[in-house]
Amino acid sequence: MGLLPVVIVGASLGGLRSAEALRRSGYAGPITVFGDEPHAPYNRPPLSKDVLGGGDVTHASVAFPQRAATADVDWRLGTRIASADLERRLVRTADGTEVPYRALIVATGLRPKRLSARTEGLAGTFALRTLDDAGALSDALTPGTQVVIAGSGFVGCEVAATARQLGCEVTVVGSGKLPMLGPLGPALAEELMRRHEAHGVRFRLGTHVAEALGQDAVEGVRLADGSEVACQVLVEAIGSLHNTEWLHGNDVDVDQGLRTDSAMRVLRADGRPWVDVFAVGDVARFPNAIYGDVPASIEHWNIPTETAKRASRILAMQLAEDPDVDAAIAERFAPVPSFWSDQYDIHLLAYGLPALADRMELLAGRTDGECVYGYFVGARMVGVCGIGMRSEVMKFREEVSRYGHVAIGEPA
Ligand SMILES: Cc1cc2nc3c(=O)[nH]c(=O)nc-3n(C[C@H](O)[C@H](O)[C@H](O)COP(=O)(O)OP(=O)(O)OC[C@H]3O[C@@H](n4cnc5c(N)ncnc54)[C@H](O)[C@@H]3O)c2cc1C
Repeated sequence: MGLLPVVIVGASLGGLRSAEALRRSGYAGPITVFGDEPHAPYNRPPLSKDVLGGGDVTHASVAFPQRAATADVDWRLGTRIASADLERRLVRTADGTEVPYRALIVATGLRPKRLSARTEGLAGTFALRTLDDAGALSDALTPGTQVVIAGSGFVGCEVAATARQLGCEVTVVGSGKLPMLGPLGPALAEELMRRHEAHGVRFRLGTHVAEALGQDAVEGVRLADGSEVACQVLVEAIGSLHNTEWLHGNDVDVDQGLRTDSAMRVLRADGRPWVDVFAVGDVARFPNAIYGDVPASIEHWNIPTETAKRASRILAMQLAEDPDVDAAIAERFAPVPSFWSDQYDIHLLAYGLPALADRMELLAGRTDGECVYGYFVGARMVGVCGIGMRSEVMKFREEVSRYGHVAIGEPA
């Protein structure tokens, strides 16, 4: 038998960047990547923005470029991994085939939460995570269609803007007081809502969709307060679940993401690492030195790349029996969370974790135009976010990335 491969489960941003970083870190052995979607890795952010709005929902419009260094990777697309046995070092495909590995990288990300099992089967209801989801939703967003969006977070607000630009009648239902309140804070969230309303979006806040109405196809929703809103399209953007069920039965901690140490090695329940099992991207719950090393999963686009680089470098050193691997593991890991969002002509860019703050302050510009806000706990800046003014926002990146900021979960 030849050399066993490094197996990566999840063929998206985290999986792709892991394979690339393994090669960059000098690992030249076999790599096998399993992905349950039929597509080669592609970029998800455009799925709620320009690609959905432009009607060109094709793989070519969002595909990541393939690099020469990973041309020999064995991509097993359309193949779901159903289970794993970490003691025996193997994964099993849905048809029962056992695939032994030398090391395993988990990059299985998230899937959307649904309102109920019933809405999953009802015509006219949609969730948005994959290219195929975006294709189906795009076909339904025709001018004049009444669209209800359950959820007023990132994806809900972006789809609202896109659907409105396509001529749909849009109502956003959110349980918070304002849309995107956590990541933006009150002043910016209020401004975002004002701009959405100026574009004709209606908001029903402080409530939630209790039930979808209609027999075979959705005809409306009933809200928790008993009122009804008619619709032909219901988009469920109420949050996500970590794809960890296939690890069931192994000694791992999957509560709110697959828990790892700061080297991205998956931890057993007692806190000891599996030395040959790593997790990267949205699925991972890892300690970040900026936030007091409290394990948390951060579901922003830059994190799969940062965590993949970290995991792959350490794994490559381990496989090469590099004597410096322990020093590399001991290095502090402190990736700066970063997110952006595009809605109409509003371009939001943020660094840090504004949601941790107890106070926000206008640092530059005007809230009703372009502006930059700082987010603070006491005197410490924990986040920065701007509408436009990218270069101003970037000036604060350093400040929000210092070690020892308020810990995630620590009361402000
Ligand atoms: C619509 C949308 C818009 C977004 N916009 C932004 C944005 O503007 N800014 C930003 O910062 N971030 C944005 N994000 C978030 C960003 O796209 C994610 O952080 C990123 O995709 C995470 O990459 P990942 O590889 O960790 O996980 P994913 O991209 O979720 O990939 C995981 C892959 O693993 C596959 N998989 C799962 N289980 C199995 C299994 N058992 N076997 C085989 N394969 C499996 C999944 O099908 C999927 O292909 C957006 C996300 C979405 C969905």
